[in-house]
Amino acid sequence: MLDTTRSEEAFRIACRVIPGGVDSPVRAARAVGRNPVFLARGEGSHVWDVDGNGYVDYVGSWGPLICGHAHPAVVEALCRAAQQGSSFGAPTEAETALAEEIRRAYDAVEMVRFVNSGTEATMSALRLARGATGRDYIVKFEGCYHGHSDGLLVKAGSGALTNGRPSSAGVPKDVAEKTLVARYNDSESVAALFEEYRERIAAVIVEPVAGNMGVVPPDPGFLLDLRALTLEQGTVLIFDEVMTGFRVDYGGASRYYGVLPDLVCLGKVIGGGLPLAAFGGRADLMQGLAPLGPVYQAGTLSGNPLAVAGGLATLKLLQEPGTYESLFKAAADLADGLEGIARDCGVPLQVNRVGAMFSAFFTDEPVVDYESACNADADRFARYYRAMLEAGVYLAPSQFEAAFVSTAHSGQDIAFTLEQAERVLRAL
Ligand SMILES: *Cc1c(COP(=O)(O)O)cnc(C)c1O
Repeated sequence: MLDTTRSEEAFRIACRVIPGGVDSPVRAARAVGRNPVFLARGEGSHVWDVDGNGYVDYVGSWGPLICGHAHPAVVEALCRAAQQGSSFGAPTEAETALAEEIRRAYDAVEMVRFVNSGTEATMSALRLARGATGRDYIVKFEGCYHGHSDGLLVKAGSGALTNGRPSSAGVPKDVAEKTLVARYNDSESVAALFEEYRERIAAVIVEPVAGNMGVVPPDPGFLLDLRALTLEQGTVLIFDEVMTGFRVDYGGASRYYGVLPDLVCLGKVIGGGLPLAAFGGRADLMQGLAPLGPVYQAGTLSGNPLAVAGGLATLKLLQEPGTYESLFKAAADLADGLEGIARDCGVPLQVNRVGAMFSAFFTDEPVVDYESACNADADRFARYYRAMLEAGVYLAPSQFEAAFVSTAHSGQDIAFTLEQAERVLRAL
């Protein structure tokens, strides 16, 4: 039995001062019927909890740690930056360097603005789209999560979905009404909204690979249809690549699928584990931002020197030749291995993978959208999660999340994980 005495105590104390003991709801692990373990340390592909138990980690801080925990090159860059001063609230050359690197990676990006979280990136991109078009309505997709700003917490995925409330209390009705919801992988549902709201839709925002209802890849043609429809209607197409950016390809899903949006939102990987996000895109749109244009957007710590240093160091590591090939091979070995084991054990399991992110759904039906994701067996996932944790494998505590493989995961880590999965699935 896993001894988590100290985690339990830490959680009890945290609950007195922090609502639910956590600063982000999915961390609470309620959906899988246990309390969270408190983590103390991470190195490479492993994390250790406060009781000293070690785990192979597939959460990677929910995506940012594509090079693993405490990578020496990232730590060194952070230390160097910290010694120079942690924040100025003035422009620095490093921000320009990171913006240029993003522009090199993303064909759709001509200019970039840095913010502190994915939530801010999508919120600001939408304001920019509304400012540029003079329209109010936006279209999002059922099960897609774009952070927790008011207008985007409508039929949202991730924690909102896991905790059974895909929409939130406290969102004014007038705001929610401006958010139209379409079905993922269903271009017809978007066309129907355009038909009804002709020339009133400012933006379509989409996760080009959905990752917050579990991983759901786009059907061939879905992203192209969105591109064609939005062009036809003068609507801004926003790819929320906060999760997929630098993860499914160095150029994100935009490059992987060869579709150019008008705006791209980035986060997670670009901060190398520090709070950093960005939105960027067509120069004529981006120049609508203050101080050049009428759309206001700002941030005291935006483009923070530590976060930018963490991001630059991470992107540099990702540019080493062969990095993505071996990263994707490790992810494929794991995803394919799981699928094979499940088949042998007679457990219905659908594994969806794109690049270095995947999800395993306990269902025998293909998972292609929100509805099919919701058909997956949550109780079975909860038992799987708890048994895997016992076995030393740290997964996201919800079936509606992605698992992330990093460059630090070795063949040995993958083999260990598959061995444990086989034992667990046989007993499930
Ligand atoms: C994580 C995520 C966000 C929100 O980013 P935060 O930094 O948590 O605010 C937005 N969109 C997508 C696709 C995400 O995966």
